[in-house]
Amino acid sequence: MRMTGNTVKLSEFGPGSLRESEGIVVGERGLFSDLLGDECPHNDLDDEILVTQRDGNCLVTGSNPRSVLFAAYDLLEKLGARWVAPGYMGEVLPESDCSAVFEQEISEKASYRHRGVCIEGAPSLEHALGVIDWMAKRKMNTFFLQFKTSIYFWRNYYLREYNESYGIRQEIDEKRSLEMDEEVIRAAKLRGLLFHRVGHGWTAESIGFPGLGWWQADREPDEETRKLLAEVGGKRQFFGNVPINTELCYSNPKAFDALVSEVVDYARAHPEVDCLHLWLSDAANNFCECDSCSKLTPSDWYVRIVRTVAAEMKKQRLATRIVFLCYTNTLSPPQAEGFSRDKDRLIYMFAPISRCYSHALLDPSCFGRGQAGGWPRNMVQAPRTNAEFVKIRGSWLKAFAGDGFAFEYYLWQPYLRHLNPLGFARLINTDVKGLASVALNGMISCQALRAFYPIGLPMASMAETLWDASVDLGRIVDETLRACFEANHEFVRKYLEEVDWLLRPSERNPHVPLLQSGDAERILELGRYASAAGARMQALRPADEREKRYLSLLEHFNRILEMRSKASALKASGQEEEAARSTAECSQFLRETERLTHRYLDTWLMLRSMRP
Ligand SMILES: [Zn+2]
Ligand SMILES: [Zn+2]
Repeated sequence: MRMTGNTVKLSEFGPGSLRESEGIVVGERGLFSDLLGDECPHNDLDDEILVTQRDGNCLVTGSNPRSVLFAAYDLLEKLGARWVAPGYMGEVLPESDCSAVFEQEISEKASYRHRGVCIEGAPSLEHALGVIDWMAKRKMNTFFLQFKTSIYFWRNYYLREYNESYGIRQEIDEKRSLEMDEEVIRAAKLRGLLFHRVGHGWTAESIGFPGLGWWQADREPDEETRKLLAEVGGKRQFFGNVPINTELCYSNPKAFDALVSEVVDYARAHPEVDCLHLWLSDAANNFCECDSCSKLTPSDWYVRIVRTVAAEMKKQRLATRIVFLCYTNTLSPPQAEGFSRDKDRLIYMFAPISRCYSHALLDPSCFGRGQAGGWPRNMVQAPRTNAEFVKIRGSWLKAFAGDGFAFEYYLWQPYLRHLNPLGFARLINTDVKGLASVALNGMISCQALRAFYPIGLPMASMAETLWDASVDLGRIVDETLRACFEANHEFVRKYLEEVDWLLRPSERNPHVPLLQSGDAERILELGRYASAAGARMQALRPADEREKRYLSLLEHFNRILEMRSKASALKASGQEEEAARSTAECSQFLRETERLTHRYLDTWLMLRSMRP
């Protein structure tokens, strides 16, 4: 209606409705059984959309209720609508009489099953709701809230500790946090999105300690509880004094059973959780070294836990699916234990957190001296390069060949360290295209929810490539830039291409972001370019408010690039104090400008990612 300026008449679809023409009939697949035969069959997990014409009417449907919504948004995209970022400024609706609705034929099936985002960083509730709305418009189908409540992330934003000059401080207790979670879940369910929850924290919660974030223990465990903790280096204590970073002594039936019950009881109490993440601690080399635990590898203990939880859930007739992960302690596959036959319940998650983001995951030139397995107990050194991770994926595939996805960190700290919008759009596009070849059926992106800075190219690339793995990056870039910038889109494209080229990996240190490579010469070259580009940007004239916003963000980004180059070049030439002063200036600038950037850039995460 906003595109045509006309009103529409809404009516219920019933027998004979198609006798009239020029109707847009939107509904679940079952509504059109007679008309469509076996086209676009019902499927709860895999999204397929269908827009077709019958007797002068346009039918809009999909393989499940979520897909019907995706079909409607896809149809609007075909008519020229664009969603480049969450919120009003991110929506671009052309004026149109929309008569082309009655010429559209769309029949698409998502390339990947899992297309999700996981909460990280410092979001407000508004930011979270905005990104969920955006995800549905771009056909992403999964949202993941970490922990039993996401209080850690809400507090990061609402306490305003990282920036007192913007926003209003709000105390967030567990009750308020759960209320915000509920709003997020409602927004996700309204759109039919699949909902994932928890992850880390089980090990702490099952022995009576809070497992809601990476916080220090508020008390010592009593002697009975201490017996349940993993023995590391001869001691049973919280690993680094952080309960969620601590493993348990799984050969102790009391610890094992407590963990299993904790997970199963939670699943029973929370049927709204479609996929429950059963992760162990969030640390490495902290597995129990007692005699009976040492009889099995960490992954074997993990498989035993996952298998027992799955069996118990089956017994209790719970529909919840369980996500288990390959990460730090469990990079090597199990050697003795096997998974149950209840494989449809289980989902494997590949989380290569220490990988290299200068190269694509499948780039064979990205290898180092790291191992791809075979570490002695508690001696894991996770690889820093990608070829080893691909081998790790291959060996796990022999242990579990069921459903699985990648858990990736592009838009957590890596993007804020690389600062390359076009480069990351290409990296994500390339990586996602390759997921099928390593038997992964999609990705959940563990990321800041404010990840549209200076424009949402990496997010667009993620959503589009997960939906259609054959998509051309050039088209995504072109559509995004044209939607954000009127006559200036060519200028912006050339700018981003130049930045991408200048940020290419340094030969001196190719597997880290250029700004951390120590290559002073290359970093100075980038800084000089940013200085010159800033002056040219100021001369650009925006056509409207939207373009003005995106040009402001681009100028802001360029200024950050200039400041970060300066600090990095100083550090590379050994001027530590000057580098620290320069970083402090950049931090100050970020705080002062959060009013402009808050929807697009996670300032909390950016400030952390600039730590030396
Ligand atoms: Zn033990
Ligand atoms: Zn690399």
